[in-house]
Amino acid sequence: MSHDPNCVFCKIIAGQIPSRKAYEDDDLLAFHDINPWAPVHVLIVPKQHVAGLSDLAPAHEQWLGKMLLLAPQLMRDNGVNNGFRTVINTGQDGGQEVYHLHMHVFGGPRPWVKG
Ligand code: AMP
Ligand code: ZN
Repeated sequence: MSHDPNCVFCKIIAGQIPSRKAYEDDDLLAFHDINPWAPVHVLIVPKQHVAGLSDLAPAHEQWLGKMLLLAPQLMRDNGVNNGFRTVINTGQDGGQEVYHLHMHVFGGPRPWVKG
């Protein structure tokens, strides 16, 4: 499984940086965002280092669908029952700050800090 030693999310996956875990399996990790925009703000990441949506290959299809399936499950697990928002930022103009593919999942009562 590819791992980038300079990548903050690879370090979280390796347990070298602490995180508040929300879910883990062989392919995916989900953890709470360190700077939440909403009462519940979780990031879903593949364990394999892929920089972003523009860097996907056909072999990644196997866990991509799991990322979307996990979003509603995580929201239910965290008591979100009135809808949620999903966001994937890609590249500079897409506002991506961490170059390890991740899906934001936001939920909980409004108002939210952003969005
Ligand atoms: P993006 O702009 O989509 O690349 O978002 C990156 C997100 O990662 C931001 O919402 C950050 O707050 C979050 N983030 C960065 N470092 C950490 C960390 N160590 N633990 C949890 N979330 C983080
Ligand atoms: Zn990484």
